[in-house]
Amino acid sequence: MTHAFENADFQERLHVINDAETGVTGIIAIHSTAIGPAAGGCRLWHYDTQTDLVTDAIRLARGMSYKNAMAGLPFGGGKAVLQRPEGDFDRAALFRVFGEAVAALKGAYITAEDVGTTIADMRAVRRQAPYVAGLEVAEGMAGGDPSPWTALGVFESMKAAAQDVLKFDLAGATVAVQGVGNVGGRLCRLLRDAGANLIVADVDKARAAALAAELGAKHVGIDEILVADADILAPCALGGVLNADSIPDLRVRLVCGGANNQLATEADGQALVDRGILYAPDYVVNAGGIINVSAEYLGETSDQVADRVGQIAGRLLDVFRRSTEEQVPPGVMADRLAQHLIASARRRQAA
Ligand code: NAD
Repeated sequence: MTHAFENADFQERLHVINDAETGVTGIIAIHSTAIGPAAGGCRLWHYDTQTDLVTDAIRLARGMSYKNAMAGLPFGGGKAVLQRPEGDFDRAALFRVFGEAVAALKGAYITAEDVGTTIADMRAVRRQAPYVAGLEVAEGMAGGDPSPWTALGVFESMKAAAQDVLKFDLAGATVAVQGVGNVGGRLCRLLRDAGANLIVADVDKARAAALAAELGAKHVGIDEILVADADILAPCALGGVLNADSIPDLRVRLVCGGANNQLATEADGQALVDRGILYAPDYVVNAGGIINVSAEYLGETSDQVADRVGQIAGRLLDVFRRSTEEQVPPGVMADRLAQHLIASARRRQAA
């Protein structure tokens, strides 16, 4: 066995898409199939350079490996990134070419929607290959909008971190929610029902104002939410919000939200520890969505999704316990646990 196979950051396969006839370009990055087929969505985005596109695909594929492993799913990690053409383009041709690429991988990669892609696009892929999730949902079966499951996993994680680690109750606590879209809006409703006080902000001011009026929440500007006087911050909008600029001014004890890639750098995880702020690793707590999408692919029921989502909070507490024991930030601990799961599966595969 080579060192590369021991290294969980090893990228198994990069499948280049470069169709001369249509001009469609992109890449399918397969980080790992050790635990199962590589599952992760398809992003359609404009990149200035080919290097930027490949770098993003590799980073996102590794992130999916870690998220799927930590969610206990029988899937590895991968991601497709397609270059969004300038101006008008033939969307049908683009997703036909992408579907052919997915088919060529013979099930090693399973795709779904991501930033810039829709259910209609995935239907087009489905005409070329069966390795697609995120389509229609049948009664009692898993599938459909993943956001309610994501919000539920974040809520249960927040409750566990507050009660079991920081020893305070969500009832009467104040939670600042950045971004009240699909995930953030639902999270706010769960928090209101649990008796928490809410402070909300969104670039879409009308959306935040309407939700604040409905739930009796305080509505602040997007520059104020990160410095709000609250017990908990729930980032539910963008990546990179926990950075060298924002961390010194945070006034919360706990950060737990649905957004992906909340830490700008690994060093920011240590900066939060130094400030005595507990950080719930994003991909551990926001796995409800991928749990729902993968259950749809596996033909499972919504009860099975509920069961898996119900395990997220316990997994988070395990990450916190080990992070204290090993004296590393929770984000580093989660990465190590994910890497261990992937490396163990690789060893079993190679044996
Ligand atoms: P969404 O687009 O429905 O909501 C995002 C909201 O954030 C929007 O209302 C937008 O106006 C707002 N926003 C954007 N920039 C902002 C800023 N600077 N300050 C305040 N608000 C801002 O998206 P979503 O599906 O709710 O996802 C939210 C985050 O959670 C994303 O990072 C997404 O990648 C992540 N996530 C979502 C799911 C899911 O199931 N939808 C699963 C895992 C992770």
